[in-house]
Amino acid sequence: PQSILDVRNLKKYFPIRGGVFGRKVGEVKAVDNVSFSVNKGETLGIVGESGCGKSTTGRTILRLEEPTSGEVQFEGKNLVRLKGEEMRRMRRELQMVFQDPFASLNPRKTAGEIIEEPLQVHGIGSAKERKEQVKELLRVVGLDAFHAGRYPHQFSGGQRQRIGIARALAVKPKLIVADEPVSALDVSIQSQVLNLLEDLQEKFDLTYLFIAHDLSVVRHISDRVGVMYLGRMVELADRDGLYENPLHPYTQALLSAVPVPDPETKRERIILSGDVPSPSNPPKGCAFHTRCPHVMDVCREVRPEFKEHGDGHFAACHLLEK
Ligand code: SF4
Ligand code: MG
Repeated sequence: PQSILDVRNLKKYFPIRGGVFGRKVGEVKAVDNVSFSVNKGETLGIVGESGCGKSTTGRTILRLEEPTSGEVQFEGKNLVRLKGEEMRRMRRELQMVFQDPFASLNPRKTAGEIIEEPLQVHGIGSAKERKEQVKELLRVVGLDAFHAGRYPHQFSGGQRQRIGIARALAVKPKLIVADEPVSALDVSIQSQVLNLLEDLQEKFDLTYLFIAHDLSVVRHISDRVGVMYLGRMVELADRDGLYENPLHPYTQALLSAVPVPDPETKRERIILSGDVPSPSNPPKGCAFHTRCPHVMDVCREVRPEFKEHGDGHFAACHLLEK
């Protein structure tokens, strides 16, 4: 498979400021040395609990946050190095769909204006052509041309997310980073929006980086899945490999909490002790060692390497080194 996006040793540290002079007193390692690739045309899901750094990973790739260090190669170009105009042009290729379609749509603009905005920003088409394109985009996401004149509050949650998707599609991107795109929606609406995303992927040759905390949603849509914990990628595999044969104790615990339809394959629920440690003070060695049921001495000292353990199945755990 040909990769379209290669993330190498990506770090995003946020300074913590304190005291009278607002000096830097620490840092939050929101994304701490994360590496993965996304293949052309696939959906790579990223899962993890809130605060694990999955959203920041997505935002840093698009440079909505500036990375602290690392590389983001998109079709052979390192996005981290691109300057003003070059990056601006590159933004056409990479778009984002946000979690909360209500918060991310300007309430004073009509749906038509919202969808047209990226076309204007990138100077695409005449005013008349843009209006035509907006109608076409509305149709593509399952809305009607007359919706162009309506305001965000006049739509349901699912319809608003369709508008957010139309806006992302307007500039014909190659990669879409979707950050919790269905988690604000009713369960009955979620699958409609997921199916729409799948149809659009087919139709427009899109590649998705799909970020979510809901393991069933990620399973539904992803070809491969990465699991993050405290700013680190702990496991990455194709969907079935990850869900049927999780190698990392954290993934095993996460999956054990998901109800399975077939009682034969029922897994024992693994209850993790303690809370997720603060990302401003992550545990030494394996970041998961404070909660891991299999913790060994080495885990408290040495950070396990993120390595391949069988065909395309990566994990970072000392248990697998034996
Ligand atoms: Fe658990 Fe050690 Fe593996 Fe970390 S490295 S997940 S603490 S066994
Ligand atoms: Mg998030």
